[in-house]
Amino acid sequence: MTRIYNFSAGPSMLPEAVLRRAGEEILEWGESGMSVMEMSHRGKHFGAIAEKAEADLRELLAIPPEYKVLFLQGGATAQFAMVPMNLLRDRAAACYVDTGIWSGKAIEEASRYCDVVVAATARAGGFTTVPPRSEWRIDSDAAYLHYTANETINGVEFQDVPDSGGLPLVCDMSSNILSRPIDVSRFGLIYAGAQKNMGPAGITVVIVREDLIGTTIPGTPTVFDYKKHADNGSMLNTPPTYIWYLLGLVLEWLKQEGGVAVLETRNIRKAQKLYAAIDASALYSNPIDPAFRSRMNVPFRLADARLEKTFAAEAAARGLVALEGHRSVGGLRASIYNAMPEAGVDALIAFMADFEHRYG
Ligand code: PLP
Repeated sequence: MTRIYNFSAGPSMLPEAVLRRAGEEILEWGESGMSVMEMSHRGKHFGAIAEKAEADLRELLAIPPEYKVLFLQGGATAQFAMVPMNLLRDRAAACYVDTGIWSGKAIEEASRYCDVVVAATARAGGFTTVPPRSEWRIDSDAAYLHYTANETINGVEFQDVPDSGGLPLVCDMSSNILSRPIDVSRFGLIYAGAQKNMGPAGITVVIVREDLIGTTIPGTPTVFDYKKHADNGSMLNTPPTYIWYLLGLVLEWLKQEGGVAVLETRNIRKAQKLYAAIDASALYSNPIDPAFRSRMNVPFRLADARLEKTFAAEAAARGLVALEGHRSVGGLRASIYNAMPEAGVDALIAFMADFEHRYG
């Protein structure tokens, strides 16, 4: 068996050590006599798995005790609705920073529940940068300020946590959580789907400051109420137990690798060498403002766009797969999350040079 390098934006590569461990434990977890898939979520075995995952996440991100950690379903897309449903409280408006396709979707969904004040938008430039903080228009009566830390499709990433102008800061960290250290205390709420940097698809992590939850807008379904989930240890209804367990294995792997700071050093190195190869070439280009280039998702175009299909097909034949850009923007994109080995990035760079030599 040869494992290929999978540059998919998500679901994406998982650490091989995690997959092997899951394989070893598939028939029996510990001395339980059963697979994790077969366990009751209310039993002592799964209880231990769930507790360990939360403790490891708290340790990896240094999450302060006044924050609740929730393991939910519905993806980050459900959070686009749950955030306003739970955080609006008595306010009529919420502020959103518009930096690309995913913040656009968050804005569209929030508009169903409140007035959305777009604090800043990078639309005019084709979403290639983050508007300067000094130009943001913050409504001090708004319930919160939302931004997308990493635009997975556009390849734009905030390099610092922005000043929220006194509002609770809400962040979609779906595609860069655990790729760099963060100061959780700067946030009111962080949410992230697991399927990029944390595990397989099917579970979403929400980290929320306790005092912000407990009031929902009228008509909010119980299953969309953070407080109900928090009070029930994320077991208000049957959770995706096996995915929760796999997420826990990824967190254990991260700890064994040395934690988030070590991963950040690796991620910087991987991204820098890929952008350097793109910038040095006459065939490839990346349009993003260098100050906001994503370390996780590297979109690129070929000078002759007709060659992009050939590029993706030839790369796939060499075990470098899923390099096509998102269907909404086209082009090419290499997603290089925590689990992408540096050797995978090196193999991609070598292939790009060879392709340019032959077609450039
Ligand atoms: N937000 C960001 C930044 C994403 O990259 C994605 C998915 O790719 C989503 C939200 C939507 O996540 P889900 O498909 O889990 O609902």
